[in-house]
Amino acid sequence: MRCPYCQHDDSKVLDTHHDAHGGIRRRRECLKCKQRFSSYERPILATPLIVKQNGIREEFDREKLLRGIRIACAKRPVSAADIERLVGQVEAELQKMGKAEVSSRVVGDLVIAGLKELDQIAYIRYAIVYLQLADLRALRAEIDRLLDGSA
Ligand SMILES: [Zn+2]
Repeated sequence: MRCPYCQHDDSKVLDTHHDAHGGIRRRRECLKCKQRFSSYERPILATPLIVKQNGIREEFDREKLLRGIRIACAKRPVSAADIERLVGQVEAELQKMGKAEVSSRVVGDLVIAGLKELDQIAYIRYAIVYLQLADLRALRAEIDRLLDGSA
């Protein structure tokens, strides 16, 4: 840990304190200038990289996901707060997986499962794009599945 006073790279740990949030606070003393300072370390959940169909990896883009869902929910009785919550859930699920990368398919499946709960029309709109429902027959099969599921 670099000393904030003189930038020396080495310090001595005087004591270590574990806090209730899984963090570790260490009191340190610089080996060069002898100034004391503290450092704080805490685990953070990382969101995995998203691997797209074409193999390109990209950072999870919360804004992009929000936009896609908002479009699917246009003029539907789904509140902005609901959409925010859904995106938050998707992000939390991805973090919980604890993987370095996941397929964009996984993200899509999480969104679609969430939209199904929120609004069936929004779900169908998203599904047309996401599941690449090519024609009315495929769309009808999906709607039938939806109707069967809720019956
Ligand atoms: Zn120092």
